[in-house]
Amino acid sequence: MMNELALALHGGAGTIARARMTAAQEQAYREALQAALEIGYAVLEAGGPALDAVEMAVRSLEDCPLFNAGRGAVFTHDGHHEMDAAIMDGRNRAAGAVAGVRTVQNPIQAARLVMEHTEHVLLAWPGADELAKEHGLPTQPAAYFFTQHRYDQLQEAILEGRVRLDHSQAVKEPAPLVEPGAFPEDPKKKMGTVGAVARDRHGNLAAATSTGGMTNKRYSRIGDSPVIGAGTFADNTTCAISCTGHGEFFLRAVVAHDISCLMEYRGLSLAEACRIVVHDKLAPVGGEGGLVAVDAAGNISLPFNSEGMYRASRTSNSPLQIGIYAE
Ligand code: ASP
Repeated sequence: MMNELALALHGGAGTIARARMTAAQEQAYREALQAALEIGYAVLEAGGPALDAVEMAVRSLEDCPLFNAGRGAVFTHDGHHEMDAAIMDGRNRAAGAVAGVRTVQNPIQAARLVMEHTEHVLLAWPGADELAKEHGLPTQPAAYFFTQHRYDQLQEAILEGRVRLDHSQAVKEPAPLVEPGAFPEDPKKKMGTVGAVARDRHGNLAAATSTGGMTNKRYSRIGDSPVIGAGTFADNTTCAISCTGHGEFFLRAVVAHDISCLMEYRGLSLAEACRIVVHDKLAPVGGEGGLVAVDAAGNISLPFNSEGMYRASRTSNSPLQIGIYAE
């Protein structure tokens, strides 16, 4: 069945231990996902472009400190925030991305700026921050992006001596039980790169992804999210995809474009192409993560090989659905 309108989003994939999640925590995630979905879907219902829908949904998630993007971004090894984002228009494969930005309040807006106001696709580090400033995008001091618990996560990751996928909780020690009133200040509840994909009334697809990357990453490390074809991709003839997971694996597997190619060259359905890439290719090599995807007919796929993935979706034929675990 054709879905004229479709929107799906994620708030990150990883080891989301159900036993450690309180009802209040889960509720807060569900509300944040629902709010973002409603903002994006309202754009589609009003006849707006998929590009605006994914940008608006991602901005909402960037502003929410529960997720690892914009406010709430994780720390680099040296104690800074370096954020990556990308957006792509399925109509013409126009794309824009930023990497390693430190001051832009909403990195997804900077990515769109690169797409619409420069002749480039990917801008990194101070030059990307400067472009955003020149065009009047809101910027913030480091304090805006600082959260104590992200900082605590960094200290844990340094002690563990590893780079940590933000969504994955340290398994060694149980997370403290948190009173509902303390929410959202507990670090174990803050997870997730964010992303969205959409199909609009005119059959146009778009994808957007935004992240703080991985906790304890080396400064200047860039993940898959801002790399077109790896973490983000959109083409009206096949699909739109936004990924979340261990970026180095997604980069090497060129995940988003690989799914598009399986559809284009082998004629596979979106669901089958997603299954092959996420479960048959990524999982066996330890590429933990997942993605949200929509095809030209508005079908949605939300595959992940991790314990969970924060996700929400809605189409013109199916009501809002929100998920966290493998249900
Ligand atoms: N894919 C992101 C990165 O590697 C991380 C994530 O999805 O949480 O930067």
